[in-house]
Amino acid sequence: MNKKSVKDIDVTGKTCLVRVDFNVPIKDGVITDTTRIEGAIPTIKYLVDKGAKVVLCSHLGRPKGEFNLKYTLKPISDKLSEYLGKTVKFSSDVIGAEAKKAKAELKNGDVLLLENLRFHKEEEGNDKEFCKALSEGIDVYVNDAFGTAHRAHASTAGVAQYGFVKTAVAGFLIEKELSVMGGALENPKRPFVAILGGAKVSDKIGVINNLLEKVDTLIIGGAMAYTFLKAQGKNVGASLCENDKVELATELINKAKIKKVNFLLPLDNKIADAFSNDANQKTVEGNIPDGWQGLDIGPKTIAAFTEAIKDAKTVIWNGPMGVFEFENFATGTKAVAEALSKTKATTIIGGGDSAAAVTQLGYADKMTHISTGGGASLEFLEGLELPGVACLNEK
Ligand code: AMP
Repeated sequence: MNKKSVKDIDVTGKTCLVRVDFNVPIKDGVITDTTRIEGAIPTIKYLVDKGAKVVLCSHLGRPKGEFNLKYTLKPISDKLSEYLGKTVKFSSDVIGAEAKKAKAELKNGDVLLLENLRFHKEEEGNDKEFCKALSEGIDVYVNDAFGTAHRAHASTAGVAQYGFVKTAVAGFLIEKELSVMGGALENPKRPFVAILGGAKVSDKIGVINNLLEKVDTLIIGGAMAYTFLKAQGKNVGASLCENDKVELATELINKAKIKKVNFLLPLDNKIADAFSNDANQKTVEGNIPDGWQGLDIGPKTIAAFTEAIKDAKTVIWNGPMGVFEFENFATGTKAVAEALSKTKATTIIGGGDSAAAVTQLGYADKMTHISTGGGASLEFLEGLELPGVACLNEK
């Protein structure tokens, strides 16, 4: 990683504004999944142990620039106090008098959590004055929220971008995301296999284009595959298919040939006569009959994909192989997750549905890395520079 991390600077006695991702599910004031909070602990603990004054900030949900009790971060400060074994102070405003006073009163090793950044519309608007206010009294900016690193918001980029805080570094979570995913893209152990699935080709054109420059094998499953199968002249029946992207799919298939990338598409599909778990269903090879839609990959495809994964040294996976929300069409997604759990390859799960599938199936600890950002990891795989990373100091 060519960006500085908290370990590269002196933080003792410094007031550090740490952008974390505390966008956790909360029901009736109770946090129902603490994964993201736990993910932020190593950076916070490190700063506390080094005697920094820690000011945490995050968004939660989509309060649309207004105060909304439903989205208060207060329950998180209580949870954090438990994890850290010390009281985490809470400021019920972000840039107001209370926050200013609380920041000024911090002693070395203290932790303060500011209220939800998105109670201010200026946060997402990356408003300069808001950035300035957020930076008041701050010596060091630490970004540890990979999930929002693809956004140029005040707290994810602005405070450093506008130069209000000169020292800007990555926390451990972002550092790991960049080193594992960046390492795989720049210097992969080969064979390097990428598996892409999910609903739409249009969402992943940039990713496919970039990965075709890097991988040895590109596997396409999920609804995305039908646009490619149509480009190959197959009948896809009533499957989800982006007709306006068929030409592009042909170009991508040709690019794979030129780049000598092994391009794997489904050989057979589990199809249904309606979009429902209980619809009539069967498995077909080749063409999908009219009135039927492909909702999962079939057994021959699972075998072929599993074989490619077995031989890989690096695997990146983003997107389900079928409508995994329906039990009857989750087989392909489960099989890919299982194949990844068995390989010795470096395995990287690109957030979102694939991360959820791997976790639900109990394979999370078998993976090298599960990205904490669906959108951010896609943009990273696309080769784009993330604003939340671009604003950090170079090594
Ligand atoms: P994405 O957000 O692009 O990764 O897409 C995830 C969604 O794609 C999931 O909700 C899946 O149900 C859906 N999906 C995957 N395969 C299919 C398919 N064959 N037909 C319809 N939807 C699919």
